[in-house]
Amino acid sequence: MSGPATTAVVVGSGPNGLAAALVLARAGLSVTVVEAGDTPGGGVRSSDLLGAGLIHDHCSAVHPLAQVSPLLRDPAIGPGLADHGLRFATAPVDMVHVLSPSTATTLHTSAAQTGAGLPGHDGRTWQASFAPLASRADAVADELLGPLVHLPRHPLLLAAFGAGAALPASWSWRRWRSPDARALFAGIAAHAFTPLHHPASAAAGTLLTVAGHRHGWPVAVGGSRRIADTLIHSLRQAGGTVTTGTRVTDLSQLGDADIVLLDTSVEAAAGILGDRIPGRVARAWSRFTRGPAVAKIDVVLDGDVPWTSTDARRAGTVHLGGTAEEIAVAERDCWEGRLPDRPFTLVAQQYLADPSRSRTVGGRRLNPLWAYSHVPAGWDGTAQETFDLVAAQIERVAPGFRDAVVDWAATPPSAVEAHNANNVGGDISGGANHLRQLVARPRFSPDPYFTGVPGVYLCSSSTAPGGGVHFMCGVRAAERALTAL
Ligand SMILES: Cc1cc2nc3c(=O)[nH]c(=O)nc-3n(C[C@H](O)[C@H](O)[C@H](O)COP(=O)(O)OP(=O)(O)OC[C@H]3O[C@@H](n4cnc5c(N)ncnc54)[C@H](O)[C@@H]3O)c2cc1C
Repeated sequence: MSGPATTAVVVGSGPNGLAAALVLARAGLSVTVVEAGDTPGGGVRSSDLLGAGLIHDHCSAVHPLAQVSPLLRDPAIGPGLADHGLRFATAPVDMVHVLSPSTATTLHTSAAQTGAGLPGHDGRTWQASFAPLASRADAVADELLGPLVHLPRHPLLLAAFGAGAALPASWSWRRWRSPDARALFAGIAAHAFTPLHHPASAAAGTLLTVAGHRHGWPVAVGGSRRIADTLIHSLRQAGGTVTTGTRVTDLSQLGDADIVLLDTSVEAAAGILGDRIPGRVARAWSRFTRGPAVAKIDVVLDGDVPWTSTDARRAGTVHLGGTAEEIAVAERDCWEGRLPDRPFTLVAQQYLADPSRSRTVGGRRLNPLWAYSHVPAGWDGTAQETFDLVAAQIERVAPGFRDAVVDWAATPPSAVEAHNANNVGGDISGGANHLRQLVARPRFSPDPYFTGVPGVYLCSSSTAPGGGVHFMCGVRAAERALTAL
């Protein structure tokens, strides 16, 4: 006769929490996910936010890292998610970086095609820098989507990646001569919300470029919520359950589960565990720092954004921030607590990859638009100020944009946190991406997921490998918990 099932509770149902739950349930544990929000999914939720019948992504929109994730490549899991309806699609152009009303440069899935759009020397250098790594993007992801300090399986590949990635982005982009190539890379590097002169600030840009040259910069068909829906479907098939509307504030709420995984912020984990946390972990966590924030808008658009760049009219993602040097200034301003004059801004036009998100009403094509600007942590702009800030960046290179806006909602940093407690101060990366927290996240330890409380692990993007929808904080933490069992 078999004994009682080993039980696990996962607190939080973001992509990392759901991935962790799925790994545990597939290992035979009895798993319950407890979520504070009314709907599960954390950073991968979507809805008809503005009541116009369109699908808006609340948080995560574009998923270059998801498709290189070892979770989706796992033959025991990936095909099951696809069977439940998880599909990705790319727009005709993956990403456009707009330098000025008259200049833009383009990232395609093909490194060769991207290089062909850059001036001769720069095009060749772009291809030489990224094509060899992109051809082995899965192995690159296996190395990098986990704790950085580890025994590499592909040491030469890791060394080739690190040669550019360990540098400040502002050094790394010197391999290109044209403002176009430099700005293209700087915009991608800016996804880390780190000053571009900081060591290893080229790392995120290099990884996102490599992933992009493997699978493009795709969106989830039907909205990012499909990522949560299909994970939950697989989890239920494996016997797991998800409950919503319960915020966990103390470990005692979770009964006597054998394993607890916290898909929460470090700050919330510290509250939940209280004085059960050993002093060395508490001290390390108290040094954990947060990065800058986002100020986001969602728009119902009559037709398309009137971009001056024709490529931007076909792009799934548009970066706005000017030259590499201008982006560097804006990112440093955010880091140092100043609102930049021209904040780095990302626009996602998911509907160009996935027309199911749009609707035709009375002969008008209504499209959902998603955009956010980088702002200092805790920036206290109102909803109107948030809309004006982000819309001004778009209007500069798409005159007439405001005239196409039918309706909008704005999410300043305080609302980003209210929507999801993990986004402390509006930081969507789970914590700052400076060198210390790139190398050791959330703390220096051979066992960084362990909280020091027996059976309890942190599994959110505040752990390695950090922010983004790649599931691997959850997978690595769950694997660690299973090993300890
Ligand atoms: C506006 C925005 C845009 C983004 N864009 C992208 C993008 O385009 N591409 C990309 O890859 N990434 C993007 N991200 C980042 C991405 O969403 C996150 O990195 C990812 O969701 C982190 O997953 P997670 O599971 O660690 O945590 P989360 O997705 O944040 O989920 C945590 C969950 O835990 C719940 N929770 C927290 N505390 C408790 C508690 N005490 N009790 C119960 N439940 C709790 C929360 O309600 C939440 O549902 C974006 C994020 C935001 C906010």
